[in-house]
Formats: sequence, C-alpha cells, structure tokens
Amino acid sequence: MANPVLPSTGVLSPLGLDAVRLAPGFWGDRVTLDREVTIAHCREWMEREGWIDNFRGRRPRRGREFSDSEIYKLLEGMAWAGHPDLPELAETVARAQEGDGYLNTRWSGNRYTDLEWGHELYCYGHLIQAGVARLRTHGEDRLTEVAIRAADHVCRRFMDTTETCGHPEIEMALVELYRATGTDRYLEMARRFVERRGLPALGPIHFGRAYFQDDVPVRQAKVFGGHAVRALYLACGVVDVAVETGDQELLKAVEAQWERTIARRTHVTGGMGSRHADESFGEDYELPPDRAYAETCASIASIMLAHRLLLATGDARYADMTERTLYNMLATGLALDGKSFFYANPLHVRVPAEPPQGVVSHAEQVGLRSPWFDVSCCPNNIARTLASLPAYVATADAGGVQIHHFTPGEIRHGGLALQMETGYPWSGGVTVRVLADGRGRISLRVPSWATGATLSRACAPDGSGASGAAGAPPAGAGRSPAAVPVAPGYAVAEGEWRAGDEIRLELPMAPRWTFPDRRVDALRGTVTVERGPLVYCAESVGDEPPLADLAARVTTPPADVPADRPGDEAVELEIAAVRAAPDANGWPYRAEQDRPGGTGGGTDTVLRLVPYHRWGNRGPATMRVWLPVAGERP
Ligand SMILES: [Zn+2]
Repeated sequence: MANPVLPSTGVLSPLGLDAVRLAPGFWGDRVTLDREVTIAHCREWMEREGWIDNFRGRRPRRGREFSDSEIYKLLEGMAWAGHPDLPELAETVARAQEGDGYLNTRWSGNRYTDLEWGHELYCYGHLIQAGVARLRTHGEDRLTEVAIRAADHVCRRFMDTTETCGHPEIEMALVELYRATGTDRYLEMARRFVERRGLPALGPIHFGRAYFQDDVPVRQAKVFGGHAVRALYLACGVVDVAVETGDQELLKAVEAQWERTIARRTHVTGGMGSRHADESFGEDYELPPDRAYAETCASIASIMLAHRLLLATGDARYADMTERTLYNMLATGLALDGKSFFYANPLHVRVPAEPPQGVVSHAEQVGLRSPWFDVSCCPNNIARTLASLPAYVATADAGGVQIHHFTPGEIRHGGLALQMETGYPWSGGVTVRVLADGRGRISLRVPSWATGATLSRACAPDGSGASGAAGAPPAGAGRSPAAVPVAPGYAVAEGEWRAGDEIRLELPMAPRWTFPDRRVDALRGTVTVERGPLVYCAESVGDEPPLADLAARVTTPPADVPADRPGDEAVELEIAAVRAAPDANGWPYRAEQDRPGGTGGGTDTVLRLVPYHRWGNRGPATMRVWLPVAGERP
C-alpha cells in the first residue's frame, strides 16, 4: 500500500495513493503543482546552495548541519510523486554512505560528538521515511538499500546506550520501517528512543531540556511543549510505538497531551508555536497573533499526528483538526505559483515585507513568501506532504470507507468504487457517486462547525431501490431524494449499491463570526470570520487603506462576495466595519475603556476579507486575522 503511515492495528485503516486518486480541485491542483513545479524548484535550490554537492564530496561543505535531511525529504516527495529524478539523486546519496551504514556529510569523521544539536539521527529519520516511501511505491532499489543499511547502523550503535537525538524524527521512521519490512529490531530501537527521553538522555542546553522534550518522560508530560516541530514529531513516534506495542497507557498519554494543546496552545489557523526565540509552543493561552511563530513544519507535524490519532481511535475530532490545518496552514505555506513558501505564519503582519532579491531569506522573514531559506525545512516538507496528500483523504474499516476530506477524486476499496465531486471549500455540496455495483458503509465526516448539515441518497435512474440506510432514508427510483439532518461526526449511508447511486452531503457555508476564549489575553476584545473550513483575514497591499484603525461591527453578519480577481475562484467576504479616527493622543493609555468606533470618532466602512491561505499572493502586504470588535454606534 502506497501510504506514509500504515499501522498494523487501529480503528481505521488508511487508504493509500493506490486507492485514492485526486482530480482537479482545491487539493488535486496543489498535488499537481507540487509534482510539476515545487519538487523541481526544491531540487534546483539545493543544487544552487551546494547541499547536494555535499554528498558529492565537494568541500567546503555548505548548508546547516541538518541540510542532508532536506535532500531526504525531497526524495520522499519524489517517491510519492513517482518523480523520474529519484534514482539519480538516490545514487548521489548512496555514494556518500560509509561501509558500516553511517551517512552524514557534516559529521563524517566526527560521529555522534554533538547529539544535542548534531541532527544525525534526525537526518536518518528522513532518509528512512524516504526509503519506506520508495519501498511502498516501487519496491527495493538503491534508496531502500541505503535506508535499511542506515537503520541497521543506528540499531547497532544505539540499541544498548542511553542516548538519543536532540531532534525527534527517527522514532516514527523506525516504526514505519518495521511496518514495511517486519524487522522487529527497528520497532524495539524506536521504543527505546521514546522511553529513554526525559530520563534525561541528552546534555543540558541553554534553552533548557524542555526545548527538546528531555525534561520529563513522555508518559508523564501533560501537554506538548518546547520546540513545536520536535514535540510533534516525537508525539507521532510515540503514537506509532504505542499502536505497534499495544501500549494503551502510552497512547492515552498522547491523546491527553493533544487535547490540552488544542484547548490552550493552538492558533485558530491550526498553527502551533508562539515563540520565535526557541521556536517553541509557549505557555497555555499564550497565542499572540503578531508574534505567532506557527512554523509550516509544525503544522505538517500536527497533521501527521492528528492522522495517526484518527487511525488509532476513529475520532472525527482529529480529522477536524487536520482539515483546519490543511486549509489554513499547509495551503498557506505554498504560494499559488508553487515556488515560494512561508516558514513562520503569524496572524497579524503590521509592516509589508521587503521583497527578497533571489537570495536566501532568514527563516523568520514574515509577510512575503520566499523561494528559499537558510533553514529550508518547510519547502521540502510541503513537497513531500502534498505528494502523499491523497493518503489523508479516506480510510477504511471492516464495514466500508470513511471520507474525511472533501475534494474531487476517486476512492476504491474492497467492494466500493466511489467518485467524489465537490466545489469545497468554496461551496458546501459534496456528491459521492457509486461507480460500480457493490456493498458497504459509506461515511462522510461532518465537520464540527457544520450545524444544520444534511445527507440525502438517490438511486441510479434504473435502480431498484436502496436497502437500509442509516442516516439517510432509502430513496426509490425516480423519487427525489429526501435530505435528513446529520450531526457533526460521521454521516453514514449503507447497504447495497448500484452504479449511478449517489449520496449528497450539504454543509452550511454561511460565514460566521468566531470569538476567542477570554483567557487568550492577546486576542481579548477581537473577532475573526470563518467560512466552512477557512479562516479569513483582512489584507492591505500597496495603496489600499491601512488596517490598524479598523474594527468589526459584529451586529451585521458577514456576507459572501464573488472574488473579482482574474483566475481566482476563491470566495471573498465583506463585513461591516468602522474606521476609527487616528488618535492624536501621544500616550496610548487612558481613563476610559477603549471602544473602537463607539464614541463618535469612527466612519462606517465595508471591509473585504480574503481566505487566510491566499494572503500575500499580491505582493508585500499587511494582514490581520483578528479585528477589534467595534463598540455600540454613538
Ligand atoms: Zn520548517
């Protein structure tokens, strides 16, 4: 099965790239863009920056100590995409591997002398994931051989020590290699890496051991903390180990950590991470919109984790969070032309960025996507994630299939062959057409925001009438289908199916105001707008009016407006707003509570909002997701 995560047990089984094929649509277009543009773009930049030359032995070595991992992530993306350049790039990597399986262009000759910062095991993790991707899409070859030799080297060197890597990643990779090969020692090595963390297993660093999750054993942690990508990659490996070893206590520990992190440490976009200094989560309710870090890689790690938890438990909440993160983080990370990327994803940008001049940007640059970064983890991570995206769309169990994400395409599993048609996320109708006679349960996720959703079922024109449907009544031939209300969770239709039968899910797509919990101090008194799975924002480019003095009038509901930009199918929104007169006061504190526009100083206006994932595609811009709530009209 062509799938990045293939647990041997769990409530749901993933459907891979061989079972789910995407057609043109929101995600199908991005998968195509990735295959045709982004993968080549990443390759080109890594040649330009000398990171591939490091494997050719060219000196001086270039790039950061972890740059090898970027080539591996791209190889994984190439494997999922069936990219023709893979064998040649894999051969370049293979030639740098040492006789005992060791492979690292930075630390060769100086092995494992800095496990805190060296990233050697982290790099192997990505190499092994690339190897597994190749094994599952093609079969054994040079890349899978290199990955297995590296994994065997890791097992020999680390099985009986107390050491681990400063950056988790090897854990989930080893479990996946165990799943792909059946070799027990890879699972045992992963289990030991998980259990020795927090004892502690690493030396002290100036950020403190919490930075790399070595402050407390993973079973005792209450919430994800420290460096966000590290914490989430570790949690993925922990779920994998828990699932494969049947360790319910360990699985429950991660579920509880996820719950609290979602409740207190997650931005409305699904982004995670609030601090720039150490790329870390921050404390509970520490969610500043302007200083949000929300690294693209952390959101990808969050998607990987939620997917694992969905497979293990079947709980729709995990798919809900995956959807939020896909539409508002993954889609944001990549420019519409597929050639530039966000690293940090704040929810408020006050000053337009300086356009990069074809040079490598610092990771923290915000406000404009960059073609490449000095730390370029995010572009290759986007490339590999989009290449494997069909694997996140649907799952199966003994009774049938579950469709978690709505995008045009085909799903084939067991006795079911289905075609999905939808204009989602712009429109809320999802039609699932049965392509061949069969039987089984078809479940469609109803997102948590979709109050008032309905499901209907229609038979093929010559159909003899469907049998027992739960959630939707059987509809006879020629009768118009009756729509029944369905609650958030999964809407289920089951029975015998004839080619041409259809299920239709209608999700309400009216834009809605969303207010923050009062404990999120940085957002108190503000509001944002969501529509379907999308978070919206105000954007100002060039001479467009500034955003600083605006407040939203929440007494008037937001309204859809057709997007007027050429080639843009996005739905934009309009809200009633007030533009407060700029204060002449030289001191931003006063004796009365500030109520924007409520004390007679404001001018009513209409504010256009765009989906957050589309911001920054028209050049340097200011942007804000959260707007102050306007006071009463005077
Ligand atoms: Zn990154």
